[in-house]
Amino acid sequence: MALNHNPVCRICRREGKKLFLKGDRCMGAKCTFEKKGYGPGQHGRSRRGKVSQYGIQLREKQKIRESYGLLERQFHRFFTEAQRQKGVTGENLMAMLESRLDNVVYRIGFAGSRRQARQLVRHRHFLVNDHIVDIPSFVLRPNDRIRVRERSKKLAVIHEAMQKARDMKISNLQLDKAKMEGIYLSVPNRSEIPFEANEQLVVELYSR
Ligand code: SF4
Repeated sequence: MALNHNPVCRICRREGKKLFLKGDRCMGAKCTFEKKGYGPGQHGRSRRGKVSQYGIQLREKQKIRESYGLLERQFHRFFTEAQRQKGVTGENLMAMLESRLDNVVYRIGFAGSRRQARQLVRHRHFLVNDHIVDIPSFVLRPNDRIRVRERSKKLAVIHEAMQKARDMKISNLQLDKAKMEGIYLSVPNRSEIPFEANEQLVVELYSR
């Protein structure tokens, strides 16, 4: 399975923004972006010229892609599918990204970051509607039930993530902490997705 091996904090530094890719570490003083708020590499401090419209569109696409942890090919596949659907392409894209199993596991609080969620999914710790699903990109449908497997309910990493998770304020998800299960109630509207991005720039980039 294809993986993104880029050093994680370098991605935030390149995008010039905290993308919260490492869970807990992102909140504290250990965050690399807080310590070195300039771009990576030898010329990181000086690389701040005028950015073209293409550059702005590209950076926005990279920010969204890296935040959701997709490779270029996977991201483009999602975009093509978003284009095929009815409605606004950018909003369709964001809704599809939010509907991925790894994202929902993270949003619901079973993992501290999407990266961690991906690893937990691959290690077969979750059931979707009573079936094991180990594909992080699996797209959930409304009313799908996500459950921590019985044998995985003692995993410290999941308990730690659940303790640290801030109270969920995403209206399309429902969590039963005691049972360690959640429901993906509906495809989220753009206004329900807590992710700052201008997805229209991605549409413009791919329309060039
Ligand atoms: Fe980004 Fe988190 Fe690394 Fe900070 S700690 S640079 S927010 S991934």
